[in-house]
Amino acid sequence: MSEAVVTLEGVDKRFDNGVQALAGVSLRVAPGEFLALLGPSGCGKSTVLRLAAGLDAPSAGRIDAPALRSGAADTAFVFQDPTLMPWASVADNVWLPLRLAGLGRAEARPRIEAALATVGLADFAAAFPNELSGGMRMRVSIARALVTRPRLLLMDEPFAALDEITRGRLNIDLLAAWQAQGFAAVFVTHSVYEAVFLSQRVLVMSARPGRVIDELLIDAPYPRSAAFRHSATFSTACARLAAALEAAHA
Ligand code: ADP
Repeated sequence: MSEAVVTLEGVDKRFDNGVQALAGVSLRVAPGEFLALLGPSGCGKSTVLRLAAGLDAPSAGRIDAPALRSGAADTAFVFQDPTLMPWASVADNVWLPLRLAGLGRAEARPRIEAALATVGLADFAAAFPNELSGGMRMRVSIARALVTRPRLLLMDEPFAALDEITRGRLNIDLLAAWQAQGFAAVFVTHSVYEAVFLSQRVLVMSARPGRVIDELLIDAPYPRSAAFRHSATFSTACARLAAALEAAHA
């Protein structure tokens, strides 16, 4: 088995205010894998992502993240809020991580254009965030994450604020980008349907303190189109996960 992109082993997280967010969380993300984390609100999903990104330290247990050791650009984060700079064009927003790495605008241009093409915004490089819809702003946020060609993409409920149709389209386009670039993805959601549609594997977490209480493999080929949502595999997996989530709330 090739080296994991990130491994958590027996990880506890207790915050300074005494809240124990995680208790004995173990998980391993393989290179190129699409993994979803599903669980009740407040169960520690964002905390897992923050630990995997090296933004916070565990209280106990071990975290190994070769993708972090080899340079911060190997790991990218996408949040529910696209957090774009309103005064900068779409292209300049996407340029940001490359600029921070010392790459000039002209030098970065081909990579910026490629990242925008990947998310379907090739024609919007010169636009400003306030000219874009919510879905388009999220696409810019994804392009900004992918422009560094990360090995690991961490996504924290990125589509939760979007309408159903936009969310469905972004799911399909995210999978296309994942297939094209081969990064590993950890996708936090509390939607059973979204977890099943996207993932090869879903981990279900218990209510706080969060633990991994269940795992489901989604054995369906990619590319997955809208038709996958009407398949028997999809509905069986959703029913199974809905039951696991019910148990997690208990
Ligand atoms: P989820 O992403 O599953 O909704 P979080 O990881 O955001 O859950 O939070 C898990 C628990 O830890 C929650 O009860 C939250 O209030 C608490 N928590 C998160 N961050 C902090 C912090 N910096 N300080 C104190 N408590 C926190």
